[in-house]
Formats: sequence, C-alpha cells, structure tokens
Amino acid sequence: MASYNNSPVPLDGSAIRFQDKTLSIPENPIIPFIEGDGTGPDIWKAARTVFDAAVRQAYGGRRRVVWYEVFAGEKAYRQFNDWLPQGTLDAIRQFHIAIKGPLTTPVGGGIRSLNVTLRQLLDLYVCLRPVRYFPGVPSPMKRPELLNVVIVRENTEDVYAGIEFRQGTPEAQKVIEFLNREMGKKIRPDSGIGIKPMSVFGSKRLIRRAIQYAIENGRRSVTLVHKGNIMKFTEGAFRDWGYELVKEEFPDVCVTEAEVGANVPPGKILVKDRIADSMFQQALLRPDEYDVLATPNLNGDYLSDACAAQVGGLGMAPGGNIGDEYAVFEATHGTAPKYAGLDVINPSSVILAGSMMFQHMGWKEVSQLIEEGITETMRQKRVTYDLHRQMDGAVKLKTSEFAAAIVGNMKGPAATA
Ligand code: NAP
Repeated sequence: MASYNNSPVPLDGSAIRFQDKTLSIPENPIIPFIEGDGTGPDIWKAARTVFDAAVRQAYGGRRRVVWYEVFAGEKAYRQFNDWLPQGTLDAIRQFHIAIKGPLTTPVGGGIRSLNVTLRQLLDLYVCLRPVRYFPGVPSPMKRPELLNVVIVRENTEDVYAGIEFRQGTPEAQKVIEFLNREMGKKIRPDSGIGIKPMSVFGSKRLIRRAIQYAIENGRRSVTLVHKGNIMKFTEGAFRDWGYELVKEEFPDVCVTEAEVGANVPPGKILVKDRIADSMFQQALLRPDEYDVLATPNLNGDYLSDACAAQVGGLGMAPGGNIGDEYAVFEATHGTAPKYAGLDVINPSSVILAGSMMFQHMGWKEVSQLIEEGITETMRQKRVTYDLHRQMDGAVKLKTSEFAAAIVGNMKGPAATA
C-alpha cells in the first residue's frame, strides 16, 4: 500500500493525472491537505464541512473528495523532526493539487519560509490572489464594491530568489569588490547584498497565465505593474517582455493602450501598464478601471495585501500558488496562535481558497455554491468575532457555527448530475 510520511494513501480515492499538459480529474480525487499551525485545525475543520457539503449538494454523491492529510510546519516538526518532510512534497507531486492552512515560519536557521520553499520546490510560479468585496463586510472605503481585481503575481524570481549575502561576510565582500572593480560601481564596503534576477522565461510565462486567466474568465483588461522607471533592466524589461508576448501570442485577442487608448473594440482584452506607485493610487482612486494585474514578485506581495485591506482585510483573502503541473491553495493570513483551539477565528480565507481550488479543478458548481453561501451569510450579518467588532447589528458566531451557516445558505440546485 502506498504511503507518505508513514500515512497510508486512502484506498477509496483516485489520483488526479497530468496528461498532455492538462489535469484529468477523477470523480473521487485524492486531495492532500496540510491542516496548518495555530488556528489551522479550527479553520480546516470548518472549511472541510463546507467543502464536503458543497460537493454533495452540487453532485448528489456522484463526485466526492477523498481528503488525505500530509504534514508541514509544527505538526511535522513534532512528528518527524522536519518542518517540511520529503513525503509531503512527494504526495503533492503525486496528487497534483493540495490545500493548506497557515504555517508557522521557523525562527532561526534552516528553512526561511515554508511557503516560499513549497513555491520554489514545486515551481508554483503564479500566485493568484482574487480580491473582491462581499456586501456587508466592514471596509475603510466609501465604495469597496468597485474593486474587483485578480492579482497574478510572479512567485519564483525577483528579490525572493534568495540570492542574498550578509553584510561583513567574505561572500558579500567578494561581490562588492567585483562590482566596484569590474563594473565601475560604487558600493559601500559595509553593505549587505541582495540580487534581483528577472528572466524573459519567468516573466513571459507569468504574463501568459495572466492573459489566459483574463480570456477564460471574461475579464476586460490586463495591467502590467512594474517599477521600470527606476529598475529598467528588470522591472522595465518585465513590461517590455509583456508587450512582446502580446504581439507574439495574443495578437487577435488583445489590444494595447498605446494602440487604442480607452476605445477598446468589443470582445478584445486591453493590455496596459502602470508604474507600481501609481498603481497603488489607482487602486484607491479608480478601482473600477482595473481587472487582472500581472506583477513581479515583490510588487505583487505589497499590492495583494493592500487591495485585500480595501475590501475588508486579510481574514477574507484567499490565495492559490499554481504551476504547470501542481497547485497549492491556501489561507493568506498567519496562524493567529492566541486563538488556537478556541473555535472563534474567521475561516473565510481558507474556504475561499477551496473555492479557487474547485474552480481550478473545473468543479465550478461547487465554487459557486461556496461563494453564494458566504455572500448570503455575510449579508445576514452572521459573522465571526473579527467582523462582528466592526459591524453594527451583527450576530457573533463561532468558527463552527459560521461554517454551518454557510452550508445552510448554499441554495444552488440539489444536484446537477
Ligand atoms: P497572523 O497570524 O495573521 O495574526 C495577526 C492578527 O491578525 C491576529 O491576531 C488577528 O487579529 C488577525 N487575524 C489573522 N487571521 C485571522 C482570521 N482568520 N480571522 C480573524 N482574525 C485574523 O500574523 P502573525 O501573528 O504576524 O503571524 C503568526 C505566524 O503565522 C508567524 O509564524 C508567521 O510567520 C505565520 N504566517 C504564516 C502565513 C502563511 O502560512 N500563509 C502568513 C503570514 C504569517 P486580532 O488579534 O486583532 O483579532
């Protein structure tokens, strides 16, 4: 019997397969999950209740997810003395799609961040962050509903590539000497060094995914967000390679702002670019002019959380880390350890991450039911403590009660089969 981390693979499910560059999803896919640390078990339990109910309601028993626990973070460290066991990576490679709760970042040496490590080892080069408003959720904006964007952030390059040299080390010294001597630069000798690689390959595959997402989801524009006025050969090149890709691969589908201004022919997708600092202003001042945002790694990191804050904060924001062959969906907040085991935390982020996962699998009916359930529950002002403290006239629910309310509000067809 196959097993990972000594945990047998369930016998009543089948593996998702990757053939001819596409995923083939069986009726009973095995999906590995990482519960997560701190409040991870609270939100995972709630999320699983919602997922199973939505699948049952959508397909009336014809389809079913077979969940398979794999380990990372503190739970893995306690059991296997390893923050990210090889078996976990092998299981995700075998089953292709996984979902995870938040993980504690180990302090001290070893792995810098489990999330960054997972992205790099599985080449999950897209970080997908949809940001939209759920009516009733408290927001600092006058009209939060105007923001409805999907941030498609590069996940493997840029300053996140992990090429850094600590100040005072022989390595830092060597790089500084090389740049000063051979390249005519003037770097202070007491500097730490970080290197920002951005490639044609990495940028184009990311922007290709952003345009494909816009096509598949009926989105109207793709904006390349960059800081090319200052970093011309990395960020500026990202923009240039983006426009090059449009010409090479999407000439019939896309038009650029330079060609048509704001007069976009019907059915075409507008490709434009914005300097990152301007994009932050635009998201606040003209949110409805933006749709899909394709960004390098660091800009996308900042922009995702800033946009999430506009529509009511991180407790609600889901994320997907997606490569060609593998995808890991996740809650975007941390482990909030002081609430662990209290059944009070808001599980919306991981529930919406699950909705993205079902969308990715082509089980669109399930993701519709989940989003309907959440929307209606928010509208009824039945919420967890974090939203309750900012909402007038709301009813405060525990995590498990909130999950039950979502299930009760899923009103889609009993079965589409
Ligand atoms: P955090 O766990 O996100 O919690 C900070 C605060 O945000 C909480 O005390 C709570 O605020 C609020 N919050 C977070 N999630 C919430 C939810 N689902 N519902 C309601 N409120 C929520 O951030 P942290 O304390 O900086 O980080 C703790 C650990 O998580 C660290 O080890 C960090 O490295 C890790 N982390 C992991 C991920 C990930 O795995 N994706 C991401 C970020 C951080 P109130 O106290 O005001 O109620």
